[in-house]
Amino acid sequence: MTLIRPDLDSLPAYVPGRTVPGLIKLASNEVADPPAPAVLDAIVRAAADGNRYPDLGVVELTERIGALYDLAPERIAVGCGSVTLCQQLVQVSCLGPGDEVMFAWRSFEAYPIVTQIGGADVVTVPLDGEYRHDLDAMAAAVTERTRLIFVCSPNNPTGPVVRRAEFERFLAAVGPDVVVALDEAYAEYVTDPDAVSGRPLLDAHPNLVVLRTFSKAYRMAGLRVGYALTSPELAAALRKVCPPFSVSSVAQAGAIAAIEHRDEILADCAKVVAERDRVRDALLAAGFTVPASEANFVWLPLGDRSAAFAAHCAEHKVVVRPFPPHGVRVTVSRPEENDALIAAATAFTG
Ligand code: PMP
Repeated sequence: MTLIRPDLDSLPAYVPGRTVPGLIKLASNEVADPPAPAVLDAIVRAAADGNRYPDLGVVELTERIGALYDLAPERIAVGCGSVTLCQQLVQVSCLGPGDEVMFAWRSFEAYPIVTQIGGADVVTVPLDGEYRHDLDAMAAAVTERTRLIFVCSPNNPTGPVVRRAEFERFLAAVGPDVVVALDEAYAEYVTDPDAVSGRPLLDAHPNLVVLRTFSKAYRMAGLRVGYALTSPELAAALRKVCPPFSVSSVAQAGAIAAIEHRDEILADCAKVVAERDRVRDALLAAGFTVPASEANFVWLPLGDRSAAFAAHCAEHKVVVRPFPPHGVRVTVSRPEENDALIAAATAFTG
């Protein structure tokens, strides 16, 4: 007899980026600056009603998101961070063992975790030689048991985007009977004009789900709020499997204020983009391989030197994120923090 289902023993752990007082944290793709002042004001005001439950239907925030994308509120599901929506997607699409959830690898480390929690089978397809999704190989790997496919653009942790034309080909090849989740957690940092954007594809593809978050460019990772844009059917299903009151009143109020002040908040993304290109150029000049990134991080495919590189950076007071045996992901942050990373990396001899 066991109280706990035995397959939980093999569940990979989500390893959070370490926060060490006094060290520069470039490990979790956060923004170093606090939330915008208007967001902080809204949070404080909402906290005053913290004795009350939040709005169960997340009505106002859903309407604001709808206005942003010109989408009816029925086509939006708000969640406690987009990672929770990933888990809800497994719950709405998979019954259990035998049902397959596919994603590229390496990609976002939560995908295998939420798949296994949902009791479904993980199917991974390797990235191509440029650390990009190999969408042709993914389409070819679809079986009659494939229920859900995560496509991450820009890809965490490697950085490249999926291109619009290849994604449209992919949707056509996969067909309408598989849920395709396009995870756009880092979309605000994308500058490549050929990058896919999910919103324009939604009307033609009721099986498409676009995932977005307030955690990155909006500087609200600690508040936990993300959303899905999709068909009314899938959005309703996502809301059904969401535990009641998952999105706190503080998170809802903060996100509404963030949308109101969106232009000024997102203006800061340009600084990150400029720093991203500067960091990449410096690392290339230091002899590293660095795939072109469209996100707020860069990837160093250091293979079995990944852990040594991370330890070396920590000695130089910089915390980066090793994903052994593949590589190391480094968040792009303020110029002086990026300078510390560049100095540490340049001194790496391992
Ligand atoms: N998707 C990707 C690709 C991510 O990198 C992250 C955050 N690391 C998330 C989703 C989850 O974001 P949230 O904070 O909204 O749960």
